[in-house]
Amino acid sequence: MPILPIRLFGDPVLVTPAAPVVDFDRELRKLVSDLTETMIDAPGAGLAAPQVGVPLRVFVWDIDEVLGHLINPSLDLSEEIQEGEEGCLSFPELRYETPRAMRVVAKGWNMHGEPVTLEGSELLARALQHETDHLDGILFIDRLDSVSRKLAMKEIRESDWFGLVEESGLNPQIRTSPHSIFGKGL
Ligand code: ZN
Repeated sequence: MPILPIRLFGDPVLVTPAAPVVDFDRELRKLVSDLTETMIDAPGAGLAAPQVGVPLRVFVWDIDEVLGHLINPSLDLSEEIQEGEEGCLSFPELRYETPRAMRVVAKGWNMHGEPVTLEGSELLARALQHETDHLDGILFIDRLDSVSRKLAMKEIRESDWFGLVEESGLNPQIRTSPHSIFGKGL
């Protein structure tokens, strides 16, 4: 099973809404498997299909040592908000306080086409929101307040990896070490 290159901010696929999955076939199961392996290798706490250049509504996560995946998700969010740092595998080294709903009820399908409902709070809720955003072409920097967003954009422009993305237009391979309380990008 291949480890896929992770697309970095600047790649248009990351800001393009993804299409619903229609065929729950072998190809889809391979995608879930490849996403999972790529996430574990990164290492990351979550990964959405557009982050590997596949514009389909599929994501995987690895939270509290439990692996999961969800297809064609829809979310119900709690009004209660959680604070906390967030990062993203498509933004190496970048971490910002990102407000999210504290609890989520997520509905969707598993890779066998069976309906799934799951409830998550804290990190799992954060991951489900972050990854569902990816499927809508929304990135975590879009969720920051305007001051943090400006700081983030400055940090991105000054980063080595963004220079490489701009230069090559391709997918430079960046290796980073997790170092925050949240630990891993999404
Ligand atoms: Zn992400």
